[in-house]
Amino acid sequence: MQNTWINEIEQNIDNQKANIYYRDLRFYQVDRFIKMAKLIDEYSSHCAECKNNKEIVGDVAKDFGLYLGGNLSRRKQYERHYDSIDKHLKKIHGHYAPQYFLSLYSFAGMVFGILPGALFYFLSPGNWVYYLSVCVMVSVFIARQFGKKKDNIIKKAGKLL
Ligand SMILES: [Zn+2]
Repeated sequence: MQNTWINEIEQNIDNQKANIYYRDLRFYQVDRFIKMAKLIDEYSSHCAECKNNKEIVGDVAKDFGLYLGGNLSRRKQYERHYDSIDKHLKKIHGHYAPQYFLSLYSFAGMVFGILPGALFYFLSPGNWVYYLSVCVMVSVFIARQFGKKKDNIIKKAGKLL
């Protein structure tokens, strides 16, 4: 194996996995953490924040077992790093998790469905619950189509995370 930065990260993490519960590896999305490390490695040559994040990832990987096998404050620290890297990759480099927009838009669709639906409370007090659920269903359905479309664009652009 080549002795590149990313290989070192992966090796460091691999070596310490034994100290971490399997369910924690899944819960803290360790595979995705490594994927993010690969991306920031690629971007670091022309992005100062990615370069900075590389150092953070390096530190986390070195003590990986302590971060995820350790106490709550260490785990919280990991989560904070994870979230800020995730946010940066989304905002600046346009990388999104699979179905990110599907779930985001579904939620928005629900909220937007409730607003007109609630009007039926005044318009048709007898069966406003029925109209409310129809509004929410239709709104979520439409929103999901937009979400799927957007997810597909991300996928086609090779920007899935
Ligand atoms: Zn960057």
